[in-house]
Amino acid sequence: MSDVSTQCTLGIVKPDAVASGRTGAIVAHLQQAGFTLRAARLVRLTPAQAARFYEVHAGRPFYNDLVAFMTSGPCLPMVLERADAVAEMRKTIGATDPAEAAPGTIRKLFAESKSRNAIHASDSAENAAREVAFFFSESELAGLWGG
Ligand code: GDP
Repeated sequence: MSDVSTQCTLGIVKPDAVASGRTGAIVAHLQQAGFTLRAARLVRLTPAQAARFYEVHAGRPFYNDLVAFMTSGPCLPMVLERADAVAEMRKTIGATDPAEAAPGTIRKLFAESKSRNAIHASDSAENAAREVAFFFSESELAGLWGG
């Protein structure tokens, strides 16, 4: 976005972590890992929005629980920028199941379980573009940082 050598990805502090007061610690962890916070907003997803965001998982056994969880309280979508942001963010958050996440990762430090796992991160550059656009318009992003 601001520099051709960097990349943006979408993170979401999920409702479990917002409710337990871990939003600030998670954002600080990401900044210490080299990410620049480009945009963030607390939102309460509707069931239709959560279903659309996770539509790739429609039909999976955990889909209805995932939609219910993601609408259970506010979450914090964020645009994060750094070199190789998509891959670096996946490393920084750790495995889906905190029991399998590497030491020092956000999910190891802050997640309760495989379903209530504190944070989302885009898993490809293509999905990052789709997911950033899901929550933030080009004009909003430009307006935050434009001269
Ligand atoms: P992620 O990219 O690491 O978030 O993992 P996935 O894309 O595979 O799954 C999306 C989200 O669905 C996860 O972050 C969990 O919140 C939830 N999820 C994934 N697998 C399971 C599961 O086996 N059971 C339940 N209850 N939730 C799951």
